[in-house]
Amino acid sequence: GAAAEPPPKLVLDLERLGELEGVEVAPLARYAATIQAQRGDYNGKVLSIRKEDMRTLAVIYDERPSVLADRLVAWGVLNAEAAEAVNDDEA
Ligand code: C2E
Ligand code: C2E
Ligand code: C2E
Repeated sequence: GAAAEPPPKLVLDLERLGELEGVEVAPLARYAATIQAQRGDYNGKVLSIRKEDMRTLAVIYDERPSVLADRLVAWGVLNAEAAEAVNDDEA
């Protein structure tokens, strides 16, 4: 039978994130740096994050998760297919 497809992982492009400047980007950059530090994962070009982290970031940015996800795609730091799967209603 057809198993349910796992949702696409949220993957941040750390190289692109490092190129961006400004106060809007700073909270995301700090959050990603904190996850890297907690994991001891410093050398990656990308960082896979938890779905739950998108909800936390949405609180930080005071936006719905889907709106924030679209913004991160527009910045070029988040994969679009993962952003499409971000659901505001999920617990
Ligand atoms: P934790 O949440 O207690 O997770 C302990 C360990 O379980 C992690 O150690 C990792 O080896 C594994 N683990 C937990 N959830 C996942 C998962 O969804 N995928 C994978 N591949 N492994 C998982 P690690 O990586 O050294 O992280 C240490 C602590 O740093 C974590 O403790 C957590 O408190 C924090 N952390 C790391 N990455 C993230 C993240 O992406 N988001 C959040 N919110 N916290 C993170
Ligand atoms: P994937 O999750 O599609 O990741 C593809 C490649 O993107 C990884 O190749 C790695 O180079 C990079 N990448 C993705 N997320 C991160 C991240 O949070 N930090 C860093 N530093 N790099 C990241 P890699 O390492 O050869 O892994 C190939 C595949 O093996 C991964 O595909 C995944 O399916 C699996 N894998 C590797 N490590 C873990 C793990 O800790 N937990 C789980 N569940 N799967 C893993
Ligand atoms: P992944 O490692 O392929 O894990 C995919 C999903 O399986 C996770 O989605 C989560 O729902 C579940 N999962 C995997 N390991 C654990 C675990 O130890 N405890 C629990 N409660 N659930 C687990 P999620 O949370 O959206 O994470 C997406 C990706 O972010 C993970 O893919 C992994 O690449 C990365 N990640 C998340 N948390 C951690 C962490 O603590 N440490 C590391 N190294 N990577 C993490």
